[in-house]
Amino acid sequence: MPVFHLTWEDHFNYFRHHDKELRDTMHRLKAYRFCPKCGGKLECKLLKSGEPKRFVCSQCQYVFYIDPKLAACTISEISGRIVMLRRGIPPCFGLWVIPGGFVDVGETVEEAAKRETLEEVGLNVDIGPLVGVYSYHDSSVAIVVYEATILDGIPEALDESLEVGLFEPENIPWLEIAFRSTEDALRDYLERQGF
Ligand SMILES: [Zn+2]
Repeated sequence: MPVFHLTWEDHFNYFRHHDKELRDTMHRLKAYRFCPKCGGKLECKLLKSGEPKRFVCSQCQYVFYIDPKLAACTISEISGRIVMLRRGIPPCFGLWVIPGGFVDVGETVEEAAKRETLEEVGLNVDIGPLVGVYSYHDSSVAIVVYEATILDGIPEALDESLEVGLFEPENIPWLEIAFRSTEDALRDYLERQGF
């Protein structure tokens, strides 16, 4: 039986006929060749009609789903100024974001938002209401953003950050924001605050 590797060209061709937006997303991802469980070769198989083909291990039959990554962020204020940080790592090195990062398995999304805020800007926060969930056809990350209240700490640039900035709503550096989700979340947050 011929073993063929799924390339992103295969995905591209599949999605070209099935779903243009999904195709664009998948096309950006890189090919996976080996099973993460046993090291066997991954094959591309249609498991269920109407769904995209999946990566399936040719040895142990493990199905390797390409799922989005989940990230959690906070929007907090000090005396009416929003806490942001300038990224010290790629992608978007040097641009501004709100504190946040990827959710680990075993922690809740709220815990991740709290942990990342402490790690990046040194602020211990209480997680408040949801600002929104942000996902895009051409991105493999889904971002959950919460309002947060600062319990204690002094804002400082820690993990992966160059600088902490406190911005009044009218001074947010819109043209130097790293990610669409940051911009969209800040706009939603400010709109709700009446700006
Ligand atoms: Zn396997």
